[in-house]
Amino acid sequence: MSSSRIAENIAGIRGRIGQAAGRIGRDPETIELMVVTKTVPAERIREAYQAGVRLFGENRVQEFETKRPDLRTLGEARFHMIGHLQRNKAARAIALFQAIESVDSWRLAAALNEYAAERSASLPVLLEINVGGEEQKSGLAPDSPELERILLGAPEFPNLAIQGFMTIPPYTEDPQAGRPYFRKLRELRDAIARRSLPRISTEVLSMGMSHDFEVAIEEGATRVRLGTAIFGERQV
Ligand SMILES: *Cc1c(COP(=O)(O)O)cnc(C)c1O
Repeated sequence: MSSSRIAENIAGIRGRIGQAAGRIGRDPETIELMVVTKTVPAERIREAYQAGVRLFGENRVQEFETKRPDLRTLGEARFHMIGHLQRNKAARAIALFQAIESVDSWRLAAALNEYAAERSASLPVLLEINVGGEEQKSGLAPDSPELERILLGAPEFPNLAIQGFMTIPPYTEDPQAGRPYFRKLRELRDAIARRSLPRISTEVLSMGMSHDFEVAIEEGATRVRLGTAIFGERQV
């Protein structure tokens, strides 16, 4: 795909984000576009950066480690980990990413807090919620004791800045099928926000992908994560 095509796709997506926000009276500025670059070579990532993108999502520590040296010149770029993170890769992830959006267990939170403390850093994280209850998917169940433990235990993680929630609903081609799951995450967020828990911020709702981001925006997404709509189908 040519660089002009990538820039065009990004412009088109920004237009659609604006329209979706407009439909429900939201300021489009409150919705961040994250461009998901798994399997995408560094050269294409640079093209997206040149088209104005500053927030990127990657799924694998190892893949991003190999691409990172070629992205050094993108001074304002932020890279977030959005894939499942194993605890034994937590230290490497912290060295690579500005934020981890896929915290799905107490043990991972504890490991990240420890490595962030070693670096005297405050690491922004999102809690990943498995709203569809799918067994093969990672993420904390909305009503799980483990989620509750993290919410109440956040003061034990002084080096994590918990900023909100991320979800990947069950996949179907119909964008409307995601709506109940997006709504469920927003309602969960609202319920947690009402409790005013110490060290829990609930501002970020990272939800919606290429096929359903407009529905996610209508349901309150503050960050949408798009790959295919920018770069075309991934070769896997
Ligand atoms: C791949 C991926 C995306 C982007 O999916 P597209 O359908 O290509 O837009 C978003 N979020 C996560 C967690 C992903 O793994």
